[in-house]
Amino acid sequence: MCGIVGYIGDKNCVPILINGLKRLEYRGYDSAGLGVIINHECRVVKNKGQVALLEKKLEEVSLSGNLGIGHTRWATHGVPNEINAHPHFNSSKNLLVIHNGIIENYQTLKAGLQKFGYKFISDTDSEVIPHLIDSFLIKGHSLFKSVQLALSEVEGTYGLIVIYDEEPDRMIAARKGSPLVLGIGDKENFVASDVSAILAHTKQIVYLEDGEVVEVFKDHFIAKTVLDKEIEKEVHEITMTLDEIDKGGFAHFMLKEIMEQPESICNSMRGRLLLDKGTSKLGGLESVADRLASSSRIIISACGTSWHAGLVGEYMLEQFTRIPTEVEYASEFRYRNPVVNKDDAIFFISQSGETADTLAALREAKDKGALVLGICNAVGSSIARESIAGVYTHAGPEIGVASTKAFTSQLVVLALITLLIARKKNMSLVDGKSIAEELKTIPDKISKILKLNDTIEEIAAEFKDVKNFLYLGRGYNFPVALEGALKLKEISYIHAEGYPAAEMKHGPIALIDENMPAVFIAPKDSTYEKIISNIEEIKARKGRIIAIASENDDKIDNLVDYSIKIPDTIRMLMPILTVIPLQLLAYHIAVKKGLNVDQPRNLAKSVTVE
Ligand code: GLU
Repeated sequence: MCGIVGYIGDKNCVPILINGLKRLEYRGYDSAGLGVIINHECRVVKNKGQVALLEKKLEEVSLSGNLGIGHTRWATHGVPNEINAHPHFNSSKNLLVIHNGIIENYQTLKAGLQKFGYKFISDTDSEVIPHLIDSFLIKGHSLFKSVQLALSEVEGTYGLIVIYDEEPDRMIAARKGSPLVLGIGDKENFVASDVSAILAHTKQIVYLEDGEVVEVFKDHFIAKTVLDKEIEKEVHEITMTLDEIDKGGFAHFMLKEIMEQPESICNSMRGRLLLDKGTSKLGGLESVADRLASSSRIIISACGTSWHAGLVGEYMLEQFTRIPTEVEYASEFRYRNPVVNKDDAIFFISQSGETADTLAALREAKDKGALVLGICNAVGSSIARESIAGVYTHAGPEIGVASTKAFTSQLVVLALITLLIARKKNMSLVDGKSIAEELKTIPDKISKILKLNDTIEEIAAEFKDVKNFLYLGRGYNFPVALEGALKLKEISYIHAEGYPAAEMKHGPIALIDENMPAVFIAPKDSTYEKIISNIEEIKARKGRIIAIASENDDKIDNLVDYSIKIPDTIRMLMPILTVIPLQLLAYHIAVKKGLNVDQPRNLAKSVTVE
């Protein structure tokens, strides 16, 4: 799930590649490296750690050229060090490869190549690629043909770029399972894992598909399949702007993205809420809406935060559409031979639209004949393209590794989908209208919650040194407890667990003492009295308590140590509000601990390896 970028043209590629890598750093930051061809010679500079360290190293070396590639790594095979950093060379050091993905049969390929005398210096799976290409080059094949032949022996996933000092007028890019785009410029062309890396230079984008290999020159490109079939590629003009992917004055992308939620949610709903009809209009689902409404079961498959959104979706869909709904981790779904029927509708939720397990699960379900539907943020992403139909969340680019605005937009989209199906089935106009009206008020309510930022920062200061946290919620707020705990784990490295509040007595309560605080999500709803009892139980065991409560709830202040009061809404939409203080709490705790909020250790934004 690393980020790769390549440039060919008349300019010096080094600053272009470094800036591209900085944009891609959310995908991985174990190490970074550049490879450039100068005067028919391959030059490489690489470094352990973040792109900034590579940039510093480059101040001491003179490196420039018109053809180059850059990589920021998220290690899968081999520790993050300089040797394992990409680009990787062939033995004669005249060919360079950067790779995103996993070569599953690398051990077999490596053993075969070693028999022919190829020497490996890294522990990566990726290093087999330059040697394998080399084994075809020495037989007299062109670079393009050698890449095709090599890739036909490779099993696994890749987004890769190859450059070769004997053909310095081109780079070869190929994709299978890992995202890759071409950027078309004026006498210059780009290749990147996603458009953010090249947006400063072009908005003319070509999306590569699995099995495609492209020969990229500075003024044209030729696309074929690995099996040498010629293909026509369409150039898309994208609308994303650089402002959308910058920090905009905030200390961190995560804070910017939390603060953007009133707006991102408006964007998710724009043109989609039909207030007078009490339903939603989702263009991407129009062609399948009847089939969806008559499906006998809905499955939601996702990973991480998107899986939590799926759990909320399950509650919404079952409550209002009465269609049995299940939520599955994509990684489990794809490997356990699940029952998939032709009249099932399966939603695959992924912010990036590139999550490897979710994409593989989608392909599996599609093969079995189900109606596969995507809920993605990244336009043109693999899941969006391979789904039969779907809905974009339109939250705008999310750069912070810990997902925030993408989550709330997923919840909004799930609410819109629920409304659409329920109104096609048996929801009355009056009920539909009241949900639609309530959805419209959500952005203002979020703005109100965001004003509590300073209060939440003060609470964070009190709790920054604790080692464990418990998050508890009931009903619609149980998935929010999971999400709140995940946010804290991801960026503050504090151990946290989310539980349905009633489950507390079946185990977790044994952990409670004055050192184990609990966060209760306790708005005034039908389970309020029950959750108050749970709060009393924790209190009796000296646990410190933070409660997310309704703004008109005065009673709770006598019971808890800190309360964060938020506006009310209907139950199905409550998670969109209750999660906001939890995002801010995790954010401020991590900042107070001096941690790198946007790039937490061991994580990467888009998990494009299994
Ligand atoms: N498998 C390669 C490595 O470990 C690339 C990993 C990635 O996609 O970040 O170097």
